[in-house]
Amino acid sequence: MDKYRYFLAAIFCTIATVLPVDAQCPVHAGVKIIVDLKFGELRTVFDTNLKDLSALAIATGHEAHMPLRAVYSSDVLSTADIKEHVDRDGAGQFCASASLVQVHLSVQNRTIHVAKEIINESCLLKAATGHAEAHAHDEEVKIAAAETEITSRLKGALSRPLISNEDSDQAQAQLTTFVRKQIELYLNEIEARESESSKMIDSSASLENLRNACARENGIRP
Ligand SMILES: [Zn+2]
Repeated sequence: MDKYRYFLAAIFCTIATVLPVDAQCPVHAGVKIIVDLKFGELRTVFDTNLKDLSALAIATGHEAHMPLRAVYSSDVLSTADIKEHVDRDGAGQFCASASLVQVHLSVQNRTIHVAKEIINESCLLKAATGHAEAHAHDEEVKIAAAETEITSRLKGALSRPLISNEDSDQAQAQLTTFVRKQIELYLNEIEARESESSKMIDSSASLENLRNACARENGIRP
């Protein structure tokens, strides 16, 4: 009989240890996600030259763009305001859940850097800045479309509370770090993705047209 009781106790212990750690944390109604987007003004500056742009094209694997005469750059910044609450479950664990996450995405320093050599070459200038503007616009579309993806992915990632065995502050800090890292991860993935529209902008036909644009002024090479 004793042996039977031990056996039952052993089974019970096994079940208890394989249960999810957060089995006792209360699960609240879903988190609300708000994403706001801001795009800074697009500026054009003559702060580079053909030699540097050529070196940049080679260093970044954009040889197909050569001779590169203008390039677009920007900084995508993100911050998040998180409204959370921490519950304590029966086992003494601290369970942090987010009720609202407000993601602020801001595309700043949107700049087209143009080679000084073409400042007075109206045709080359128009062709080179036009191509860079297409990339700037493509980024706008890509980031605007990311709003839905970030919302649904964050909702999924935050559907269960995060647990700390230490204290309420640590549980909150853990949740904040988790949310920020998730947003960073999504943004990196979205930025690395080559959209259909960016493939069109950089299609071989389009780059060929760019290379052959402005035959009269085309003598200007790095
Ligand atoms: Zn391009």
